[in-house]
Amino acid sequence: AENAAVETLVALARELGDRAPRVHVLHLSSADALPLIARAKADGVRITAETCPHFLTLTAEEVPDGATEFKCCPPIREAANQDALWAGLADGTIDCVVSDHSPCTGDLKTADFGSAWGGISSLQLGLSAVWTEARRRGHGIDDVARWMAAGPALLAGLDRKGAIEPGRDADFAVLATDETFTVDPARLHHRNPVTAYAGRTLGGVVRSTWLRGARIATDGTPAGPTGRLLERNN
Ligand SMILES: [Zn+2]
Repeated sequence: AENAAVETLVALARELGDRAPRVHVLHLSSADALPLIARAKADGVRITAETCPHFLTLTAEEVPDGATEFKCCPPIREAANQDALWAGLADGTIDCVVSDHSPCTGDLKTADFGSAWGGISSLQLGLSAVWTEARRRGHGIDDVARWMAAGPALLAGLDRKGAIEPGRDADFAVLATDETFTVDPARLHHRNPVTAYAGRTLGGVVRSTWLRGARIATDGTPAGPTGRLLERNN
């Protein structure tokens, strides 16, 4: 179904040509669609694609029976598919990695994959999860910053975000790249700490988080909500 959906998007974009709106493939999970997207980009079709931390760090083979905290849409696929997604990131076919933070109350994660909520919360863990796997595969933190900060800012047209340089908002995390931690659901700040990452050891500990030059979290403890709605060009 995912492959067919991407095929339809690309076919419509090609058919409409200059009249086509910009096309973005969200939550790309199926690596089968990568050649299609790569060819469309090479042909000048205005198309971009994103994937998410769970598709890059979790595999179908390791999902225990009935463990619906791993359910998301599209689904987590096999290890070989994950290798191909990483190759798609490395060669630029995939433009960015986005959080796709999709929380729900614990009761919605029933033990039935058919009816359970489809979504994974990983806002607090995404950076470390992606960094852990990126490093294992030989990528640097600069690659991760490009995929998780510069790429999304460019896609969303947020000129003040996505880089640390004069004229932009001073948004950044101070990351101890060599340190590790084990994910304990009780220490998550999500209101509903259901997580597919429980018990995993991840690399990269966030020391502090900065928003527009102000420290908003220290050693994993947020100072309190300080955000505001972002619109283009502000
Ligand atoms: Zn989503």
